[in-house]
Amino acid sequence: MRLSAEHREKISQGLARRIPWDEKSVPSKHVWARRYLIRAPGCETCGSDRFLEWASINHVYTQNREDWKWLCRSCHLSMDAPRGFCKGSEVG
Ligand SMILES: [Zn+2]
Repeated sequence: MRLSAEHREKISQGLARRIPWDEKSVPSKHVWARRYLIRAPGCETCGSDRFLEWASINHVYTQNREDWKWLCRSCHLSMDAPRGFCKGSEVG
């Protein structure tokens, strides 16, 4: 059996199908952020240019740039920790 052109077309449409934002997993939202959000030149908190990654403010994971911060690993962790995402530490 060989794939017809029509069949190929269906496959590529299937792969390209846009998943509604609300149905995307958190990791795929991070992938989206890496691809589409406009990055600051360095960490938005301390200015470091090492180990930068997107952090969702309050973990809301919207498509709004203002709900994300481009942070270094350590600022990302310190932003998350007081909000209870780092289990085991009783901060504040
Ligand atoms: Zn930083």
